[in-house]
Amino acid sequence: MKILVTGANRGLGLALTTESAIRGHKVVAAGRNSIALRDGLKPLMDKYPGQVKPVTLDVTNESSIQSAVKTMKETEQTIDVIINNSGVLTEREKDIEHLNIDEVHRTFDVNLYGPMRIVKYFLPLLSNQSFQRGTIINISSEAGSYVNAYGGDYPYALSKHALNMFSQQLRHYLKERGIRVFAVHPGWIKTDMGGEQAPGTPEETATGILDIIEGKRAVSSDVTFINFRGEAMQP
Ligand code: NDP
Repeated sequence: MKILVTGANRGLGLALTTESAIRGHKVVAAGRNSIALRDGLKPLMDKYPGQVKPVTLDVTNESSIQSAVKTMKETEQTIDVIINNSGVLTEREKDIEHLNIDEVHRTFDVNLYGPMRIVKYFLPLLSNQSFQRGTIINISSEAGSYVNAYGGDYPYALSKHALNMFSQQLRHYLKERGIRVFAVHPGWIKTDMGGEQAPGTPEETATGILDIIEGKRAVSSDVTFINFRGEAMQP
C-alpha cells in the first residue's frame, strides 16, 4: 500500500511512518519544515531505501498541498491511505475569560481545516483507482468527546470534536466508493505533545493503527470514532 502521513517528522507521525515502512508499505511522509523532515526521516530512508518519500507540505497552506498533489499527479502516483496526523495543542487549561481567540483560529487551522484541505486535494489520488482498502484515518483525541468535556483546552477539544463530525460526514460521502473513514484516538502517548509522563508509546499506537488499516483488527462497520485498538469511543 502507499500511505500518506502528515506530521511525519516526529512523534506519532514518525512512528506511523516507521511502522508502515517495516511492514513493506510505501510512505509519502509529509512535513512542513523540509530540514526537520529530512533529519527526522534520514535513518528510515537509509534503512528502507525507496520506501519513504519526504514531501514538504504545511497543512495550513493550501498552495503547498496543491503543489504536492500536482507533482504526484504528474508522475501518475496514487495513494491507498491518508493519515491526517498533524496536530497542535494550544491554550492549555486556559479559562474562557483568558482565551486567546487567535490561538483558537490557529488550532482549528491545523487540527480541522488541515485534514479538510488534505482530503479535498488528495482524494482524487485515492479514489482514481480500483482498490479494496482505501482508508482515511483522522487522528483525533478523547478530548473531543462529550464525555470528556471538563471545561478546558477549548481550542483543542473543540477542534477534535469537529474533526470527529467531519470524519462522520466523510464516511457517509465516501461509503459508495468503498473508502473507509475513521477518527482515531491514539491514546495518551509519549511525544512532545503527550509528555514523558504519558503511559503509552507512539510505537504501540502505530502498530494498532496499521493493524486497523490492514484489516487485521476487527472494527465495527458502523462506528467512526474509535481508539487505536479499534474499540468504539463515545462521540
Ligand atoms: P507532536 O507535537 O509530537 O507532533 C505534532 C506533529 O504535527 C509534528 O510533526 C508537527 O510538525 C506537525 N504539525 C504541526 N503543525 C503542522 C502544520 N501546520 N503542517 C504540517 N504539520 C504540522 O504531537 P503527537 O505526535 O503527540 O500528535 C500526533 C497527533 O495525535 C495529533 O493530531 C494529536 O492531536 C494527537 N493526539 C496525541 C496525543 C498524545 O498523547 N500525544 C493524545 C491524543 C491525540 P513540526 O515538527 O513542523 O511542528
